[in-house]
Amino acid sequence: MLTVCPTPIGNLGDVTSRQVAALRAAHTIACEDTRVTGKLLQLIGIQRENGRPRLVSNHDHNESARVEELIALMESGESVVLVSDAGTPGVADPGFRLISAAQDRGIRVDVLPGACAAIVGLVASGFPSDRFEFRGFLSPKSQARRAELESWQGGTLVLYESPQRLKSLLEDVSDVCGDSMVFVGRELTKLHEEHLRGNSAEVLAKVAAKTIKGECVVVLHAPYKEQDDALGRKLVAELVSAGLAP
Ligand code: SAM
Repeated sequence: MLTVCPTPIGNLGDVTSRQVAALRAAHTIACEDTRVTGKLLQLIGIQRENGRPRLVSNHDHNESARVEELIALMESGESVVLVSDAGTPGVADPGFRLISAAQDRGIRVDVLPGACAAIVGLVASGFPSDRFEFRGFLSPKSQARRAELESWQGGTLVLYESPQRLKSLLEDVSDVCGDSMVFVGRELTKLHEEHLRGNSAEVLAKVAAKTIKGECVVVLHAPYKEQDDALGRKLVAELVSAGLAP
């Protein structure tokens, strides 16, 4: 069996009893960084005895090779728990290859609910969340990032960004999607959690005025382009029928 186990994004209080039970019962824990997971186990009082649970690394650079090994363990009856360094595995983190292989092989996959920065940021933004798009990290290069922002069709968009690149991202947002509302959720769930919210120029000015440290989720909201197009077409049709346009 494969259990996908979220871990806190900065607040140890967000560990659930189901997560503790799964980690305690695991034969093997597939981790992004075994040192980070080892530390978490210590903090939540799980003692490793005789190397059990076994910690194996499963990150972007070795996941393809690691999958068959982990599948073989599960097929031999072992319980494997998948974690990443923080938050929900598979969300801008390694995991989907292993989950996909387990599903393909008919291995039971249990996903435990838990911390996910994208969802915490989305809900905190107060922007409409009945429909949203998640794109994780946009390109670090401005030209490619601008093209990605241009392709956004509006609605609510959730992004991850490093504190070093936050200002450049917001400059591009301001240039390319100037009419959008912006929310920055910094250090979510942590002691120094901060929310910045306003139009793109306002949030850019706040970010430019200080040194930003810590992890950030950026949420954008703008009217759907297709709605604009539909409104535009309706207006033209009305003008035409009123004889005011050819
Ligand atoms: N899988 C993780 C999850 O479910 O939240 C996300 C992993 S991704 C590699 C890491 C990014 O998530 C960070 O660069 C930051 O953009 C965002 N992030 C993680 N923890 C955060 C926090 N406490 N506050 C704000 N953003 C956070």
